[in-house]
Amino acid sequence: GKGAAMVTAVAYRLAAQHAERQRILDTLRLSREKLLEVKRRMSEEMARGLSKLTHEEASVKMLPTFVRSTPDGTEHGDYLALDLGGSTFRVLLVRLRSEKGHNVDMHHKIYSIPQEIMQGTGDELFGHIVCCIGDFLEYMGMKGASIPMGFTFSFPCHQSKLDQGILLNWTKGFKASGCEGQDVLTLLKDAVRRRQDFDLNFVALVNDTVGTMMTCSYEDPQCEVGLIVGTGTNACFMEEMQNIELVEGDHGRMCVNMEWGAFGDKGELDDFCTEFDRVVDNSSNNPGKQRYEKMISGMYLGEIVRNVLIDFTNKGLLFRGKLSERLKTRCIFETKFLAQIESDRLAMRQIRSILQHLGLTTSTCDDSVLVKEVCRVVSSRAAQLCGAGLAAVVDKIRENRNLNQLSITVGVDGTLYKTHPHFSSIMQETLQDLAPQCQVTFNKSEDGSGKGAALITAVACRMKSEGQP
Ligand code: BGC
Ligand code: MG
Repeated sequence: GKGAAMVTAVAYRLAAQHAERQRILDTLRLSREKLLEVKRRMSEEMARGLSKLTHEEASVKMLPTFVRSTPDGTEHGDYLALDLGGSTFRVLLVRLRSEKGHNVDMHHKIYSIPQEIMQGTGDELFGHIVCCIGDFLEYMGMKGASIPMGFTFSFPCHQSKLDQGILLNWTKGFKASGCEGQDVLTLLKDAVRRRQDFDLNFVALVNDTVGTMMTCSYEDPQCEVGLIVGTGTNACFMEEMQNIELVEGDHGRMCVNMEWGAFGDKGELDDFCTEFDRVVDNSSNNPGKQRYEKMISGMYLGEIVRNVLIDFTNKGLLFRGKLSERLKTRCIFETKFLAQIESDRLAMRQIRSILQHLGLTTSTCDDSVLVKEVCRVVSSRAAQLCGAGLAAVVDKIRENRNLNQLSITVGVDGTLYKTHPHFSSIMQETLQDLAPQCQVTFNKSEDGSGKGAALITAVACRMKSEGQP
């Protein structure tokens, strides 16, 4: 009768809605073939970044870091380290003692960098940083001491020596004016000079990936790759000098800061991007830039999820078709919420309460299930893309050394990698699948960017005292 017809109609509508949701989510799913293609294109860009002829136009810059040797364990002394590039700014005092087996003692203070300063003028930003350093020295009772200092500055810099680096472009949330194209240490030194009440002894400018690799290789000499998956994403590794055409000399190895976040900026990822990626890119601080980073890192994953949810809602497939003001707000899905929503330990009702806390009053249990699925699809794609990039890196190292099998360690840091319940396992699965000739061990680095800057400074001081260049 009529009732049965209505039931059929409802069932039909539900099935159609389900199919529509899956059709949309499928655009975010990458097949093995596509991931292999990502790996292949990454390899190609790496070669282009290294070669003098193609470096200018390459998206992956493969920047020389002038870090040539990893720590040998004899490093010792007191070092200051600065760490800028994530959500906070930190000043650290690192004490290395070589005798008692890799003993590292650290004191640090965390300072916030207000949004207006991140996006104000360079003078304001570096003035603020110098203020924080002054405060720290005072706090430690060390004003006036001339301690060698390493600066972990997690942005792309063109270096022609260890203690210099020209900022190519800001990434992530930073946008301070008058800095791009300038030497970062000169900007900092000028800011110190303006204050005139202390002096600093700058030795090294370091990318966070490099600091992470160095910290990890202090314990494990097989660690020759550094990886960050946090607010942004990037990797570095020990490359053969003969492949680094931008630097004279063919002997030994040097760490290369890949700046792989910019992969895709010449269209290499266009085939894999969705409309959601394009919206996230367009509404970012740096449209058209850091396209790979925008598909992988913590600053953007929540934004992709939010845009998928908006689309579902507009199509009547979620939240009963009602678009809340909250959902229209940028950046409500921080990394920690994604990690929570995807946790296997949570019952649906707990997910509902997280969503409620975010101001998304989900009415049904189905809504929670769907939100979780969207998060899962977006973070899995991120982990797979990251794994595909890493596959290109480790296979290159293997080929460099003419090996059939390579065993290597990757030092990793970053909140997304460390807190997300599935990111690391999916990334590793993909890596193993796409680079089967490499046995890769992952080592989480504890405070790599702080300790690493100190270690690099210590190695540089040691080499200088040994009379090496
Ligand atoms: C920067 C890299 C950095 C990475 C992780 C990217 O946005 O360009 O220099 O290593 O974020 O912090
Ligand atoms: Mg060379």
